[in-house]
Amino acid sequence: METIGLIGGMSFESSAVYYRLVNEMVRARKGGLASAELILHSVNFEEIVALQKAGDWDGAARRLADVALRLQIAGAGCVLICTNTMHLIADEVAAKISVPLIHIIDETAKSLHAAGRKRPLLLATRYTMEHGFYADRMKGHGIDIMVPDATDRTTVHDIIFNELCAGRVHDSSREKLIDIIDRAMEHGADSIILGCTEICLILDPNRLPLPGFDTTTIHARAAVEFALGAEEDAEEEAA
Ligand code: GLU
Repeated sequence: METIGLIGGMSFESSAVYYRLVNEMVRARKGGLASAELILHSVNFEEIVALQKAGDWDGAARRLADVALRLQIAGAGCVLICTNTMHLIADEVAAKISVPLIHIIDETAKSLHAAGRKRPLLLATRYTMEHGFYADRMKGHGIDIMVPDATDRTTVHDIIFNELCAGRVHDSSREKLIDIIDRAMEHGADSIILGCTEICLILDPNRLPLPGFDTTTIHARAAVEFALGAEEDAEEEAA
């Protein structure tokens, strides 16, 4: 089994979900008491948030690239940045390591393709919804994402940072998110990207008015496929 390297702590609420999902998926595939070989490097989110607020994406890239390299040196066979937002600097992180960076946008695009969805609503942080990196990369996969209007973008961003990343889940916020989804449906959205790794804490992707694509689950599954795929290939070679 390959060792999975997780860059977590952004926030630790979602890193805990990654940890559980990756291990549950390995156990489901391998049976018994099997669990994942993984290394989690969890950063201090307060420092990352300060860099985000200052628009210091170069500083954030240097910080996360350094963490990625440490994970590789410690034995990780792949690296995941456990947040959509920080994929803004994924290319810089990938350039620092020689093992694969499993990219959350590429994996989400593959899931959308498999389900025949081409016009998803993106629910995410302001950085992810507004900086263009997400929309551009999705466009490269033939997917035309929709984002909420300015007022709704503020609502989603504030729910993520003021509530979900702080460990709070409010029914009133869930209702606001469902209202945003209803409005997007009227404007032609055919699916919903839970494009922040904490949104799965408040929305169940299988109980939405449109098909939901949870980036946390998709990303964790891709890591497990990488880790066990390598093991199964080695077993086949040995046979
Ligand atoms: N985990 C969130 C995401 O997937 C937000 C935290 C961050 O800003 O990195 O975008």
